[in-house]
Amino acid sequence: MANSRSIHGIPPDHATFAAWPPCRFRHDKPPMVAFGRTHPYRRRTSVVDDWNATTLGRFTSTRRQVDWIAQNPASCDHAWPQVSSPYRRQSSDMSTLRYDVTTNDWVIVAPSRARRPIEQPLRNTVSPKTAVQSCPFCPGNERMTPPEIDAVRPGSNLNADDWRVRVIPNLFPALQIEENPDSRTESSSFFRYRGGCGAHEVFIESPHHELALGDQPPDQIVLLFQMLQRRYNDLLRDPRFQAILIFKNHGEWAGTSMHHPHCQLIATPVVPRQSRQKFTIAEEYYDRTGVGLYSRLLEEELNEQTRVLAVNEGFAAVLPYASHVPFETWILPRTQQSSFGSVPSSQLPALAEILKRALRAIHAGLDNPSFNMTIDTAPRGDESKPWFLWHIQILPRLTRRSGFELGSGMPINTVLPEDAASFLRDVDRANAIGD
Ligand SMILES: [Zn+2]
Ligand SMILES: [Zn+2]
Repeated sequence: MANSRSIHGIPPDHATFAAWPPCRFRHDKPPMVAFGRTHPYRRRTSVVDDWNATTLGRFTSTRRQVDWIAQNPASCDHAWPQVSSPYRRQSSDMSTLRYDVTTNDWVIVAPSRARRPIEQPLRNTVSPKTAVQSCPFCPGNERMTPPEIDAVRPGSNLNADDWRVRVIPNLFPALQIEENPDSRTESSSFFRYRGGCGAHEVFIESPHHELALGDQPPDQIVLLFQMLQRRYNDLLRDPRFQAILIFKNHGEWAGTSMHHPHCQLIATPVVPRQSRQKFTIAEEYYDRTGVGLYSRLLEEELNEQTRVLAVNEGFAAVLPYASHVPFETWILPRTQQSSFGSVPSSQLPALAEILKRALRAIHAGLDNPSFNMTIDTAPRGDESKPWFLWHIQILPRLTRRSGFELGSGMPINTVLPEDAASFLRDVDRANAIGD
């Protein structure tokens, strides 16, 4: 442990910590590894510490003790482990609990001892060679889909085959625009329901049947983002819709059977719990500290560097400290943007560039895994609130969720995000050389 000094002459090894001679100033607590801290008297420097402070009430007493020691410098000759960051690396096969400040969840990080990141990842069995003639998303087959909602094309003929990005209604919609959104009840007020009012649209990302999103030319990805924004902002004008989720299912384990690259959008008459919760947590953090939780988190990650995959002038791709799944990757704006709908068009090329890099690294490094991608953005009416940053989440589907995870809601991640980031950075560098 190069970045630490001995305490009472004994190396600060976690296993022997309990055996250290007690100090009269009561410094002899075991390190707070699970809380992202190794020293009970470390200064408050991170959002994790903020959480500790508010939830465990540690901050007050810690602050007092730090002040006391500062005023009595000669009273203690302890040397404490010097850690560069609260996000300390663990030795590679130690399991720990990491706190997710964005969801208030604990994540179990239990790295497998396997040499490869995932010993037996879920693999796609669907053949990539589905027939183009029978693919309803291929140009020339427009009549096989419902009439289009919108499209980018040089010509002006609706449903013609010259489009570059095409939007159609989902043939099997989860929610439908005609349904009544009013809340109603069954026999008892305990059983509430609403009509399944909503919108469910499919975005065909490219005319090319075989070209995955990360392999598209950057200007094609920009066209897709422009179209996503256009539909997003258009649907938000409908007061019945409270939230819009943009998502992508790639591969069998992510829940798609359509090979042709596409993503989807669902507008809902209520704000889904997960979005509401993340937004509320960020709001509370802002009330308490005056700082945006996500901008603070991004700042910490950029300082720390170990979990950063890529950075460009507008965006950063990072693997979050408390990643819920192996190789989880987020893309966040580096300026204050709460809503995906309000990303300036001048920044879309930078967004396309970094998304392409992240997807290519995941595709090449993990052998075209199934993945889900979601865009988390402020709910309707909160688009200009300063405490949120909209972000893309890429969630590779390399493992199945276990009964423990479903029952507890506590994810088990078997790859350290630091190791995953380092691995993807290597692939990203190799991709850049290959270009
Ligand atoms: Zn001491
Ligand atoms: Zn196709």
